[in-house]
Amino acid sequence: MAQGTCSRGAGKWKASVLYCGMHINAKGALTSGYDQDLKLKLPYLAYLLQSEDTNILIDTGTSERFLVDGKAWGGCPADAGSKYLLASLEKKGVKPDDIDLIIYTHLHNDHAGNCNLFPTTKSIAQAAEWQGLNNPVFAEQMRRDYDLEVIPILKSNPNFLTIDGDLDLMEGVRLLKTPGHTRGSQSVVVNTTAGLRVFVGDQFHLPCCCFPWMTQMKDCDGVTHQITPAPSNWPTIPGSLVYDYYSYYESADRIKAILPEMDPGYIVCGHDPDLLHREL
Ligand SMILES: [Zn+2]
Repeated sequence: MAQGTCSRGAGKWKASVLYCGMHINAKGALTSGYDQDLKLKLPYLAYLLQSEDTNILIDTGTSERFLVDGKAWGGCPADAGSKYLLASLEKKGVKPDDIDLIIYTHLHNDHAGNCNLFPTTKSIAQAAEWQGLNNPVFAEQMRRDYDLEVIPILKSNPNFLTIDGDLDLMEGVRLLKTPGHTRGSQSVVVNTTAGLRVFVGDQFHLPCCCFPWMTQMKDCDGVTHQITPAPSNWPTIPGSLVYDYYSYYESADRIKAILPEMDPGYIVCGHDPDLLHREL
């Protein structure tokens, strides 16, 4: 994978990947049937942004509440839960109380699952995403995309805020509304110490979804797999978990438009195993 060339926009935020567990799924579920036979160990992820005096958490991973008999929905074998998020935070010397702000890329079960660990922490999601959680369309209900137990937890947080649209949140952190995967997904554009990074949530589950010319990817164990590229005129490879394809393609272009170069190193995808093997 071409990466590591992101030097533009360097800022004060040190970004880290927080491992929150894993599940085993067919790659094809995330790439519209491409490589359906390739079963991959895929991580659940959250991310930590740190400046001198502020800790920001992007997403909170999956709760053990959502796994039944070691399986996530769809029968995917999974091992995940709050203990992984807590252990990953501890490795960084951070406790839940030290988190100043949570940004939710979206409120699916595997991104908002551990919101209960942060009962009063200032937390931000898009208003449309909150509506989506409270009124999932039937396809989302069938897939159990949302963990409905998240609703009362976020409702009781006096500092849970919903916004509509893009927002310059603070120096070097910008929120970009990027619906498609869900109705209120957002991306987080950050000037990290290593340069510009866009945390895209599950708009792109994997880098090859954004850059469909890619022919290789790593799994959680660091093993490299050959993967099928899309025809060269395809802008992206959408996953099968797309709420609205029209919004999805618009959001894909919004994200790509702010990248200095078409380089996978600039984007941070919701379930990219390669993130476990490299620095952001
Ligand atoms: Zn996800």
